[in-house]
Amino acid sequence: MIKINEIFYSIQGESSYAGNPTVFIRTTACNLRCTYCDTKYSYNEGEFWEIEKILQTVKDYEAQYICITGGEPLLQKEIHTLINILCDLGHIVSLETSGSLTIKNVDPRVKIILDVKTPDSGAADSFLLENIGFSRENTEYKFVICSEKDFDWSENFCRQHELSKKFTILYSPSHGQVPERWLAENILQKKSKARLHLQLHKYIWLSTTRGV
Ligand code: SF4
Repeated sequence: MIKINEIFYSIQGESSYAGNPTVFIRTTACNLRCTYCDTKYSYNEGEFWEIEKILQTVKDYEAQYICITGGEPLLQKEIHTLINILCDLGHIVSLETSGSLTIKNVDPRVKIILDVKTPDSGAADSFLLENIGFSRENTEYKFVICSEKDFDWSENFCRQHELSKKFTILYSPSHGQVPERWLAENILQKKSKARLHLQLHKYIWLSTTRGV
């Protein structure tokens, strides 16, 4: 059984899979409390679902892409069973996690998006550094930038751990806190190796549910 907050069908707004019609499986509960969190309703709301019921719901959407998100999906051990089955069924699966819990046991067929928390998130230092060693070639590192301080901190983090040599780096402006243009200019001026990452779903709101 997995505690599920919601399952819905929308356009993927994040990562290099952005733009793809995707089924989102949002799990309940999170071990962090980021200042800008837009899914606070996932902290406690939800019901326990049998894996069979989740699979049937996913099947009804006839989608190739599945995104496991939260909350923090890795808080629930059975998520690995679900991910394995979805991969076996031929789905293209992505997992969004803060990286505060180990990714060691995540199915290697999954694209992992590690959302490294910056100082202004209020959850800095939550990232497990050992996860860098467990990352694969297709792992993406995302940083939500709230300020200049966050930008410089992210640049240092990437440099210190040589992330841009091995992985895709995504810088996303914290919605409503810093302008997209400001972030674009910083990336260019400071010769960052990061990709500007706009949350597509905040611009085209196709989901009839509360969001991604
Ligand atoms: S990790 Fe995600 S779900 Fe958890 S508090 Fe931070 S933004 Fe919200």
